[in-house]
Amino acid sequence: METYKKIIEDIYLELKNVDDIGKVANYIPELGNVNDKNFGIHITTIDKNSFGIGDHEKKFSIQSISKILSLTLAYKLEGEALWDRVDVEPSGNPFNSLQQLESDKGIPRNPFINAGAIVISDILVGHFKNPKEDFLSFCKGISNNPTLNYSEKVAQSEKKTGFRNKALCNFIKSFGNIKNDTEKVLDFYFHMCSLRMSCKDLSEIFLYLADDNFLCQKGKRILTESQAKRINAIMLTCGFYDESGEFAFRVGLPGKSGVGGGIVAIHPDKFCITVWSPKLNVKGNSYKGMLFLEKFTSKTESSIF
Ligand code: GLU
Repeated sequence: METYKKIIEDIYLELKNVDDIGKVANYIPELGNVNDKNFGIHITTIDKNSFGIGDHEKKFSIQSISKILSLTLAYKLEGEALWDRVDVEPSGNPFNSLQQLESDKGIPRNPFINAGAIVISDILVGHFKNPKEDFLSFCKGISNNPTLNYSEKVAQSEKKTGFRNKALCNFIKSFGNIKNDTEKVLDFYFHMCSLRMSCKDLSEIFLYLADDNFLCQKGKRILTESQAKRINAIMLTCGFYDESGEFAFRVGLPGKSGVGGGIVAIHPDKFCITVWSPKLNVKGNSYKGMLFLEKFTSKTESSIF
């Protein structure tokens, strides 16, 4: 941990005052209210050592990072049948694109683009009586963190303005790949994206993807080794929309970004690290977050390649 700590401190100081090019997401109006100077990092290793710096304990809107958690729960429930409803190929398209759904007959390319995450939401809505509550308690149970919650403000703000997601959901339903009422599915999706967590919360909750022996609060495994391998593989190939290749190329770890400016990255068998900086590049990924992680894996020689 001492080596990681020193390197994280050095890169943090180097980047702290860099005024990154990029813009805070405001297509969901409530996200635009965040202070764009926030910058935090937190790492948790599989032997449960941890270190954080900057705004690492401030909660923020995790947005698409939540798609790892919904995928995890749906995979547990459905097993391999899940892949009949959502594919595992990089889309090479923006996160909210409708384009490929027509030729792919309503089967989204992967669970991390909006189309795929909406199908996963449909699966969870069909499975639970109280999907929002049950999903939240699943998340809380993983790392024994009772402080996790949705932001009703962010969820309502996206509900009012999320016309693309509404279009995606209706379009997929026209192919028969949404089974439940679209309003219910979207309400779940918007709430899931509104989850608030800090870098610390995130680097603790996703340890199950780094550590094969991770047990949740109730002493149970979250995923089998094979399932964890597969989710890591989808993160590596699809975690950054049409910039997934670039992230693998520059950082070399499985990861997932969100338009709230967070990035989670996993080193299987070593650690989970999270960076938060709200200004996004044109592809919707945190500008400083990517830069930080590129420097971190280079200096610590800890990419998976
Ligand atoms: N709730 C956001 C949306 O659907 C998530 C996008 C993201 O974080 O990439 O647009």
